[in-house]
Amino acid sequence: MTDFVRPILNPPGGQKKVLLHSCCAPCSGEVMEAMLASGVDYTIFFYNPNIHPEREYLLRKDENVRFAEKHGVGFIDADYDKDNWFARAKGMEWEPERGARCTMCFDMRFERTALYAHEHGFPVITSSLGISRWKNMAQINDCGKRAAAKYDGVEYWDYNWRKGGGSARMIEISKREEFYQQEYCGCVYSLRDTNAHRRAGGREPITLGVKFYGQDSTEGEG
Ligand code: SF4
Repeated sequence: MTDFVRPILNPPGGQKKVLLHSCCAPCSGEVMEAMLASGVDYTIFFYNPNIHPEREYLLRKDENVRFAEKHGVGFIDADYDKDNWFARAKGMEWEPERGARCTMCFDMRFERTALYAHEHGFPVITSSLGISRWKNMAQINDCGKRAAAKYDGVEYWDYNWRKGGGSARMIEISKREEFYQQEYCGCVYSLRDTNAHRRAGGREPITLGVKFYGQDSTEGEG
């Protein structure tokens, strides 16, 4: 691992108890280790009904559970209510990534995270979603703030997990842990579009469950 001095993290309001929405192990690995290093008391909330098919959902979730257990971090396994996700995505099937369907997708995940935080006494929510360079951080932060604003006593922490070497450490940790490496964002439409892009470039479509960090130097998509 690269030598580095981690910044001391200060969740908003001087709070130390955080509910971390996690999208997958590669994206949350650095976020988790950074919070542990600062003594932040956090629990993982895994709510990602966007991920398709279910086999891919379980691959990503199980990898995240494994890493949480390794660090002794609590893990809330929330619903895989994909029917509701598809209902909300109706009419947005051909939206490009970072468009309106993604806003809906982030909204849905943050809404459930904020509700759980409200019902279980977490004053702060945050997410691993923004650490991926494939994502629009402003779009994610807007969704997080909108969800938290529904509840008194719940605040969204818009910390930029990419800064201070966070992006590089995300890759280092993923390689160290040999995390499962997803090759598309998550939903059936991102799988369709990624495969179309690959075919256009003369590449084979994605095969689920075969790629792991550390096996080559390419970077997956969180
Ligand atoms: S591309 Fe990713 S963020 Fe956008 S709707 Fe699909 S799974 Fe959600």
